[in-house]
Amino acid sequence: MTGIVDWARDLLVSRGALVEGEETGALRAMLPAELATELDSGEWLSLRFGAGAGSDDENEWLDRLGRLLPTDARVVGARLRHPVLVPPVDAAGALDRGLALQNGIHRVLEDCQQTARYYFFGFHYTIESDETSLGVVTVCLNASARTIVPQAEFLSNAVKDDLEEDPQPAVSRDELAQLFPIALRGVQPEIRRLAGAIEQSANRRLARDTERIDSYYKDLLRQIEKRIARRAADPDAAGRERSRIAATQLDRAAKLQDLARKYSLKIRIQPGDVLVVPLPVREISARLIRKKAERVAKLHWNPKLGALESPWCESCSGPAHPLFLCDDRVHFLCKSCAAPCVNCGKHFCRACQPRCKCGGAGAAAAHPPR
Ligand SMILES: [Zn+2]
Ligand SMILES: [Zn+2]
Ligand SMILES: [Zn+2]
Repeated sequence: MTGIVDWARDLLVSRGALVEGEETGALRAMLPAELATELDSGEWLSLRFGAGAGSDDENEWLDRLGRLLPTDARVVGARLRHPVLVPPVDAAGALDRGLALQNGIHRVLEDCQQTARYYFFGFHYTIESDETSLGVVTVCLNASARTIVPQAEFLSNAVKDDLEEDPQPAVSRDELAQLFPIALRGVQPEIRRLAGAIEQSANRRLARDTERIDSYYKDLLRQIEKRIARRAADPDAAGRERSRIAATQLDRAAKLQDLARKYSLKIRIQPGDVLVVPLPVREISARLIRKKAERVAKLHWNPKLGALESPWCESCSGPAHPLFLCDDRVHFLCKSCAAPCVNCGKHFCRACQPRCKCGGAGAAAAHPPR
């Protein structure tokens, strides 16, 4: 497990430690005094994980380091050290590519430099099977344009060095509360993707161990059956062997159940810090037109990503890319929230109404696997 070293490094650095890690599987750190107390360690911390003599117990350190995770999300405000100018872009082209609008048209009204409020939500995850894997996944939301920013990690790295702490950040608790569930939904597909790879390899080991146990018990049962055949003349002895068969079969079932438990996946997600930072964007105002209805939207072109951020679905808050518009109120919808009713085949907007007017069973399409 190399994941624990990266995770420990990030966690310790986030709490003010000086960390060096010159070899894989190991790290050395100098801890601030209060951090050392929290961890129950000296101010010089040296950890080595993996096989080999003198290596540290991973599970013990998972617990100890886990104590450092905030029980409540900590909100940190930051700002750019220097102002940045965002040059004009080809607004119509950016909307064409960035929205992938499926059932309407757009008309650019104007575009100008603007500052948008970005929220970076860090989520710590632990995926436990027979091995433990952990790390942090970041979800980034642009609260001003109501978009889910693709490549959150990339954006965070791109701006990180230009940031300074904002001593008086203007963070709205209401906005934070509103955004948090959207971020939490957003992190799940990513963690499921990570878990998928772990599950695959756990399944491979499960199949291998199952086969081993199966063949062991098959041999055992074969031997008992041979003994029964030999003792056909002695009904008592044969009876004893037969109850041995039953006991062996129970034993095998219990062993297989243990295996399934050992390799089953447990996923935990814990909210970590939230970074709130205003960043410059190119704001494109546009009319989005669907049949006779239209709305004016402000969309953001992100200079660090070199791309337009696509809005989130106003029904399920997933990414609405490609973008569908609703007929009546021009809601922004993802494909499955704009899909026709599975019962009557009519289109309806899941942001306007949770179920189709036909009221048939299963009228609202299931949300997409995200
Ligand atoms: Zn949706
Ligand atoms: Zn219907
Ligand atoms: Zn609608």
